[in-house]
Amino acid sequence: MTEMTLEQRLDAVRQTIAQAAEGRHITLVGAAKTKPAEMVARAVRAGLEAVGENYVQEFRDKSAAGAYEGAQVHIIGHLQQNKVKYVAGKVDLIQSVDSLPLLEAIARRAASLEAVQDVLIEVNIGREPGKSGCLPEALDELLAGAAGLDGVRIRGLMAIPPAECSRAYFGPMYNLFVDNGRKKYDNVSMDFLSMGMSDDFADAIRQGANMVRVGSLIFGPRNYI
Ligand SMILES: *Cc1c(COP(=O)(O)O)cnc(C)c1O
Repeated sequence: MTEMTLEQRLDAVRQTIAQAAEGRHITLVGAAKTKPAEMVARAVRAGLEAVGENYVQEFRDKSAAGAYEGAQVHIIGHLQQNKVKYVAGKVDLIQSVDSLPLLEAIARRAASLEAVQDVLIEVNIGREPGKSGCLPEALDELLAGAAGLDGVRIRGLMAIPPAECSRAYFGPMYNLFVDNGRKKYDNVSMDFLSMGMSDDFADAIRQGANMVRVGSLIFGPRNYI
C-alpha cells in the first residue's frame, strides 16, 4: 500500500466535506498542533484556508517562520489570560473563549491595538468536569457580556464533545446555535458553528456545523497529545 501525500489527504478531506455539505460552504480548519512549520506551509500552499493552533508558543514560532501566509489562523486550544497579549489582534479567530474575564481581557488587548478580535464561545456541551468551555446555562451571560466591548465580536460557537459519543451532542449544539442566533444580542452574530474533528466531521456537518477542525486526517498522527 502506498502512503497518501499531505496534498492527497487534504483533498480527500475536502471531498468528504463537499459530500456532507450539500452546497453549503464549510470552513476547514487544519488543526496543526505539534506539526512543523514546513508541513503547515505545504498544506496552505495546497489550499488549506485556515490553520488552527492550540499552543501560543507554536503559533508564535510557526508565524515567525511564515507558515501561515495566505491562510487564516485560529486559536483552538484553551487560552490562558496571561497569553492573551500574544494572540489578540493577531489571529483571525479565537475559538476557545469560555469565560467573561477572558473575553474582557481579549477585548482590552485588541482595543489597545485598535483591532476587533473575532471570537467563538466554547461550550462544554458534554458537561465534562475539568474540561474547557462554558456550561450551556452560562452561555447567555457570556453573549450578553459582549455588548459594549469594542475590541471583540462574537461570531458563533465551538464545542469539543466527549469523544466516545460526540454525535449525540451535535444536535444540541446546533439548537444552541440557532436559538441564540435568534436572540439578537448586541455585538454577537451567530455565523459559525465549529464542531467535528477527524473522526466525526462529516456527521457534524450533516448536523449543522459550518466549520470543522481536522488534524490527524490531514497532517497524520501526532506523537503526543
Ligand atoms: C487536535 C484538535 C482537533 C483535531 O483533532 P483530530 O482528531 O486530530 O482531527 C480539533 N480541535 C481541537 C480543539 C483540537 O485540539
